[in-house]
Amino acid sequence: MLAFTGSRLDRADNDRADPERLAGYRNWRARLLALDGLMPGMDETGGLAWGTLADAPEDAELVFLGLDSGKPCFACVPQLGDAAPRMANPALWQAMASLTPDDLAIYGGARSIVDWHARHRFCAQCGGATRIAKGGWQRDCGRCNASHFPRTDPVTIMLVEHDSRLMLGRGKGWPEGRFSALAGFVEPGESIEEGVAREVLEESGVKVRDVSYIASQPWPFPSQLMIGCHAYADADAITIDETELAEIRWFSREDVTAALAGGGTFVAPPAQAIAHHLLTWWRDR
Ligand SMILES: [Zn+2]
Repeated sequence: MLAFTGSRLDRADNDRADPERLAGYRNWRARLLALDGLMPGMDETGGLAWGTLADAPEDAELVFLGLDSGKPCFACVPQLGDAAPRMANPALWQAMASLTPDDLAIYGGARSIVDWHARHRFCAQCGGATRIAKGGWQRDCGRCNASHFPRTDPVTIMLVEHDSRLMLGRGKGWPEGRFSALAGFVEPGESIEEGVAREVLEESGVKVRDVSYIASQPWPFPSQLMIGCHAYADADAITIDETELAEIRWFSREDVTAALAGGGTFVAPPAQAIAHHLLTWWRDR
């Protein structure tokens, strides 16, 4: 299973719009996800720590995460969001490494939404203060009444194949030898297929066809939806976009197999990343 997927929570989305039912969920059985800012609190077994609503500050904004075997689960919006979510945070990755896949999915989803709240306290339309609504799955502006919804930003990440070889790139600033699938945000007005074709052409100068979807993964740093695709290239001549990438190369099935086994000609992306899953899918195809 892909990291950050497979949460056991029932989102109970019909209940979010029902203020009475939502208020009823704020009971003694309710659980509050322990967070220190955006860092997960850990219990003694290395799992996610949970407290009760009594642990939340009186004026805290609470997000209803869903039901865990009938028990309502909440998380507090922290004072500050993550100003630089792409930056490596070794302490966070160490904490996440001890979580079960199920706990990791709950943490990732909770992190993404409370971080969104912390960074959207003011209306994008009029600048007025916004307040939490629908159990935390909406914010409403107190001045102009605009409603704002949590973001999910689609990113295509794609394996490009030509003549039984895959195109992989090394980003600027990445360690020597580390390669991964090309990726980029989908832009307004684009389909997934068009986004894939544009990104590959921009970054490598290669034209692709027959784009197909493989798998997707929520990536909570801060709120991407990674959309894993495969496409074929008609030719292998590369014109690299040096503003984005340090290197692009074609790799054989043997190269990919060896890298996934921890050796060979390049360093594969980490197991938590969808790129690793995509390479495994291609190897086994
Ligand atoms: Zn407003």
